[in-house]
Amino acid sequence: MKHILAEIENLPQWLAAQGLPKFRAAQIQRWLLQSRAQSFAEMSDLPAPLRQQLDRDFQLWTTTILRHQQSEDGTEKLLLRLSDGGVIECVLLRDGPRRTICVSSQVGCAMGCVFCASGLNGVERNLTSGEILEQMLRLQRLLPADERLSHIVMMGMGEPLANLENVTRTLAIASADDGLGISARRITISTVGLPPAIRRLAELDCRYHLAVSLHAPNDELRDRLVPVNRKIGIAAILEAADEFFAHTGRRLTFEYVLLDQINDRPAHAEELGRLLAGRVALLNVIPYNPVAGLPYRTPSNKAIAEFREILERHGITVKFRQRKGDKINAACGQLRRQTVDLSTGTLVNLPVSG
Ligand code: SAH
Repeated sequence: MKHILAEIENLPQWLAAQGLPKFRAAQIQRWLLQSRAQSFAEMSDLPAPLRQQLDRDFQLWTTTILRHQQSEDGTEKLLLRLSDGGVIECVLLRDGPRRTICVSSQVGCAMGCVFCASGLNGVERNLTSGEILEQMLRLQRLLPADERLSHIVMMGMGEPLANLENVTRTLAIASADDGLGISARRITISTVGLPPAIRRLAELDCRYHLAVSLHAPNDELRDRLVPVNRKIGIAAILEAADEFFAHTGRRLTFEYVLLDQINDRPAHAEELGRLLAGRVALLNVIPYNPVAGLPYRTPSNKAIAEFREILERHGITVKFRQRKGDKINAACGQLRRQTVDLSTGTLVNLPVSG
């Protein structure tokens, strides 16, 4: 059976093949993306035979919710099991009027960042566009009827630019007025920095926001923290990012996870300030969210303040991201790691905080 969320663009053809009018496609799409239907049966303005036909030919949900966690700050996290047994996570963040969702692009990750929970067991596969959209719809349905999703960040598990086709296909639906209606300016693709894919994304002219995970001011340190850097190098990434800015006019974001004693020293801040000076860019500094079993720690408040002061002296626009949802393991890959024995794929009953 086909996944209807992976077939939305093909619905007019499917209807034509059934000898049915194509305008039904817009109705079905509205039920799925805007009216938050949970089943075909409730699509009350469709003829009953069509609803039955949809039910015979398509699955609406391909995932099952293994866990649903809520924290006091309004963050909610879903752990989802895919039809082939793979496990992914996605998050809803509430920040003032914003309703931001953080979505996964792959099962696991191949990039190998040493501090991150997602890639500890490598990558299993790319998510389909339907599975990426399903995360968005699962999170949307957690909102009360009078609230809408406002922002999307591709900052869940996986490297979105390693699954560029499925990611951009889903984001086209998310950003369309007759889709989820989330404007491209409010959609961020976060990448470890893959220059050819950054260029391809720029050429698509889709006006998404690009965030590059830098995490180190020089290749010697970045090679250690982000192993995929050994084949790429910071200079090539900055060149592609600058081209993205030149092409799209969208201000770049650089992300920097602060790891105690590793990349948080005053000398690192100085070097980072020199590296980024002169760019129209925002530096997003994220205090590390500790992962069980990994040796990395969050820096002291004093080290964080000093890091910030040095960068501001260099004229860099710096934002220190508030930690949200850390009590529910909202950082990339953490909940999955805590809940699922990755060697067997079975749920293990570990105590869950928050
Ligand atoms: N592959 C993409 C998306 C990863 S998740 C990328 O590399 O950008 C988004 C951000 O969260 C990345 O900057 C990633 O390095 C960071 N991150 C991963 N684990 C983290 C942790 N435990 N604490 C804080 N940030 C983390």
